[in-house]
Amino acid sequence: MATELVTDIHIHVQPWEELRPGARAQLERGRMMDEILAVMRDPEVLLRRMDDAGVARVGLINYVSPDVMGFTARVNSFVTDYARREPKRLLAFGSVHPRFTQDPGGEVDRIADLGVRALKIHPPHQLIAPNAYRDGGDCPGLAAIYERASARKLPVMIHTGTSIFPLARNKYADPMAIDDVAIDFPELQIIMAHGGRPLWMPTCFFLLRRHPNVHMDISGIPPQSLLDYFPRLTEVADKTLWGTDWPGPGVPDLGKNLAAFRALALPPEARAAILHGTSAKLFP
Ligand SMILES: [Zn+2]
Repeated sequence: MATELVTDIHIHVQPWEELRPGARAQLERGRMMDEILAVMRDPEVLLRRMDDAGVARVGLINYVSPDVMGFTARVNSFVTDYARREPKRLLAFGSVHPRFTQDPGGEVDRIADLGVRALKIHPPHQLIAPNAYRDGGDCPGLAAIYERASARKLPVMIHTGTSIFPLARNKYADPMAIDDVAIDFPELQIIMAHGGRPLWMPTCFFLLRRHPNVHMDISGIPPQSLLDYFPRLTEVADKTLWGTDWPGPGVPDLGKNLAAFRALALPPEARAAILHGTSAKLFP
């Protein structure tokens, strides 16, 4: 068991000082902040915590959301600088916000050249539907992002499921809009974050089975409830990626959720696919 490889594809290592006060207060409520801030400052601290938890690789999730969360385009150089300490273990996720960029496609190229390995789109925090490039939607720039990500072979993670941060808008949280993206960009590898939790798990399960290029991470779902959320998880294990959403609410460290996940009654092959195999395909 100790040798089982683990990729936690969804943790948040972000420039904390950019957070707007309301969002920051919500993230910090009831948390011991010293250790969290030490991780944000120093990749060596994170690497030690990964070693303690038996985690080989992590995805460092970042996204631009100046008006809702406070994060600016500086997150991209922040995360690529951070990941440079150990690029094989630290996967930099960056972001292009189509409403705050003149040239969204060019910006994808720029941050890919910086070292970003994947993109994050956060519809409820960026106030865009994933398919808002279609049907006269209000965000035609999204198409350039998907097109360049596809050409540069950058997987795109799209947040799905509700958010209760102060200015988040949950009309953008429904994963069904990803159906259009999967059809229009068949070479693009898509990861639905959080499996649509807590309202849209059946939608995510449907999209996983329908589209070869759609995957999901199970971060933010309490592991002990995972099989209630996805009773047929084994059928989609090869499309599913382990993630915790640390330091989000209810995730004190990388190891606790991992132990709870390993206690679930899952076939060993399914467990291995979720913990590492699917990630290894998307991030060789
Ligand atoms: Zn997250």
